[in-house]
Amino acid sequence: MFKKVFVEKDILHLKRTQGILNKISYKKLEEIEKVEDIFGRVKKPYLQKRTELNLFLGKKKGELVKEAPEAYGTKGDPHFYFVHAYNCIYECQYCYLQGYFHSPDLVIFVNHEEILKEIEKKIDETDCGSTPWFHAGEYSDSLALTNITGELPIYFDFFKDHPTAKLELRTKSANIRELLKIAPLKNVITSFSLSPEKAIKSYDLKTPPLKTRLKAMKELFGKGHPIGLHLDPVIFEVDFEASYSLLLTDLCKSIPLEKLEYISLGVVRFSKTVFHQVKKNYPNSPLLAEDFIKGSDGKVRYKRPMRYWILNKLKDLCIQYGANPENIYLCMEDED
Ligand code: SF4
Repeated sequence: MFKKVFVEKDILHLKRTQGILNKISYKKLEEIEKVEDIFGRVKKPYLQKRTELNLFLGKKKGELVKEAPEAYGTKGDPHFYFVHAYNCIYECQYCYLQGYFHSPDLVIFVNHEEILKEIEKKIDETDCGSTPWFHAGEYSDSLALTNITGELPIYFDFFKDHPTAKLELRTKSANIRELLKIAPLKNVITSFSLSPEKAIKSYDLKTPPLKTRLKAMKELFGKGHPIGLHLDPVIFEVDFEASYSLLLTDLCKSIPLEKLEYISLGVVRFSKTVFHQVKKNYPNSPLLAEDFIKGSDGKVRYKRPMRYWILNKLKDLCIQYGANPENIYLCMEDED
């Protein structure tokens, strides 16, 4: 799977590190001082991830838990995200990771206890009565590699002891093997990002098909795991209402919409840098067929009336299919 694995000297001996190394295949291992000494130092084209991928194992340094941007999650509660990996095995054409790091190589951090200590501090600082949310996988997919990385039980143990806080595992994968081994918790929500099958085939390269993700959702829900839904990013197509109706019809066969913890809706959007990368990496993508504008916040997206028209249509559709309106929120749509 990997051409080369770079491992920080300090963590090479750890059982956790050895556990990861035993589960992957690679051609060469190199001991290094720090991930940041090598990762992204020489610019590597994003699409090189198709043919040649390296893996870095190390400790996450710096700010381990960060405040999430506004409108990141359900309204009224503080939201934070933490980072235990960089980059992703999938290749969504709109992915914000293009141009974010200088390299598509995967980085896995193993110092989960330190991350949890920071999470605990944020919980202690949170006002009584509000629920702090912690989102995993801001720079990666939260579940795609969990059978290799093995961190889920550590986070479940922690959140079992901190029932006033919530953890969101956000994913486009169907890799629920490890989750199924763990007893569900009310405050750990697995949220799936879904798009109509046609859009998955066109834009979400290498991700599992819709059918497989729906099956995974059904199985997890059946075992009692709380499930969230992201219909995000929505990419406009003339038949988008019909495509999403079909998607919601299929979803209802797996989970009644009123049983979902929340539904988040968002329209495709990019930073200026990412948009430039998308044009470079996927010049013929139908994703680029629509007119985009650059807003005062620097984001590139559809014009505001179009965004709100799409989001309101989708919201109405979800309600029509049984969703509780109070559980639907619009992601990243508060700015002009
Ligand atoms: S699943 Fe998420 S992180 Fe992975 S390529 Fe797609 S958008 Fe990027």
